[in-house]
Amino acid sequence: MTPRVLMYHGVDHVARERDPHGMFVTPANFRAQMEHLVAAGFVPVTEQAYLAARDGARLPRKAVLITFDDGYQGVGEHAAPILESLGIPSVLYVPVDLLGGRATWLGDRLRYPLLSAGEVQGLRAQGMAIGAHGSDHADLTRAGDTDLRRQTVEARAALTELVGEEVATFAFPYGLHDRRVRAAVEAAGYRAAFSVHDPAGRFGIQRVDVNATDTLRTLRVKLHGLYPAARRTSRHVPRTRRLVHDLLGSAYDAPGAVAGPAVPVEVVRS
Ligand SMILES: [Zn+2]
Repeated sequence: MTPRVLMYHGVDHVARERDPHGMFVTPANFRAQMEHLVAAGFVPVTEQAYLAARDGARLPRKAVLITFDDGYQGVGEHAAPILESLGIPSVLYVPVDLLGGRATWLGDRLRYPLLSAGEVQGLRAQGMAIGAHGSDHADLTRAGDTDLRRQTVEARAALTELVGEEVATFAFPYGLHDRRVRAAVEAAGYRAAFSVHDPAGRFGIQRVDVNATDTLRTLRVKLHGLYPAARRTSRHVPRTRRLVHDLLGSAYDAPGAVAGPAVPVEVVRS
């Protein structure tokens, strides 16, 4: 069994009305989530260990890979010190041509700053692995062949130059991929690529999204080994959909509530 993979975006204080998709987890929640992982016996692993596991190496049953998409400033400012203090490795996916600029895809009310090239180098030196997130955060399924090459081959070369070592993995902007995009990423020399939903082998690895609405209770549900399968099933089986919704939805209604029962197994069996 390959380790589960968590996907974060930003870690910062961003008002909910400016962040309608809940992309930013507060630093306090992020710390509580990381401390929970460790206390609950999860074993955060490095990108290299994760890749070795995909090649057949054995990892602890509760191994988990922590990833961040987009390269937001707050990840350097807030998340990196927390991860460092707990000894937790992670991978940061950045759109290399946009470093030092601002995100344009979060809506009109949030032009959130991205890490600079120098800050990305600093995070690498602190132990964070750096992966590619295209060149400029475009939907690659709509890119022409020349642009797709730029977003995969040239992005890898530029990022490799920046961090001074081979860039091993890729995360699809918006999680969007198709057969042509996956083939381009593989041909560019990456060893694996991450999506969000729609698992498609080594170049379309599913991740569990952790966002601003999550509490420790919903995080526990999402960390359950069968959660991704349950979520997939829930699209097709109404009863399961209702149960998954109830399980996660009740936590949304009580954001202060952090305690809760373990995941009822019948949810994923129906
Ligand atoms: Zn992104």
